[in-house]
Amino acid sequence: MSTIAENIAKVGARIREAAQASQRNLAEVGLLAVSKTKPADAIREAHAAGLSDFGENYLQEALGKQAELSDLPLIWHFIGPIQSNKTRPIAEHFAWVHSVDRLKIAQRLSEQRPAHLPALNICLQVNVSGEDSKSGCAPEELPALAKAVATLPNLKLRGLMAIPEPTDDLAAQHAAFARLRQLRDELALNLDTLSMGMSHDLEAAIAEGATWVRIGTALFGARDYGQPTH
Ligand SMILES: *Cc1c(COP(=O)(O)O)cnc(C)c1O
Repeated sequence: MSTIAENIAKVGARIREAAQASQRNLAEVGLLAVSKTKPADAIREAHAAGLSDFGENYLQEALGKQAELSDLPLIWHFIGPIQSNKTRPIAEHFAWVHSVDRLKIAQRLSEQRPAHLPALNICLQVNVSGEDSKSGCAPEELPALAKAVATLPNLKLRGLMAIPEPTDDLAAQHAAFARLRQLRDELALNLDTLSMGMSHDLEAAIAEGATWVRIGTALFGARDYGQPTH
């Protein structure tokens, strides 16, 4: 087995155990492989080992890898910060966007979604752990944003996403993820998606209801930002 295939097996076991421990249906927890900074070959290997959904943060890098991998039936998720002048290629080349945090971006994605493609799946990114993070809408702004996004014709609002401040404190991990679930439930929009949990905290996220865990390091190894691939 390749290292990536071994890593996928290990992450799969962690997900299974976490689902079991919280009596959740394993089929409700998707594994989104975060491939930012990793070469197309690593994605090809992960696909050969059974993965289909890949998350990318940097648009130019993602478009390059999509072109290289166009022979594979991959599902692409955009999970990085979005500048408003970059919405068109995102609307054209992804199935999901997890990182929408303002209405202007959502409006542009809806307007620019090509008519021949199904609605673009959207998660609203919420800042659940305060000042430090610049991304994500404030919890107080979420109800109005969600209501507006839900009416946009070429988007399908699926749920919420968060990147809580990294911490080894399990209680703090649970609290942040529980907060996101509570915010989702309070919207009462019947949203089926919680995109939360990364390599170091996927167990807490699954216990609190994650439906996508976004895993990079535990699948592909540490990232080297000194050698950008984009
Ligand atoms: C990089 C990244 C991940 C993956 O993080 P790991 O700790 O490597 O698993 C998940 N979500 C987002 C939004 C990211 O930018």
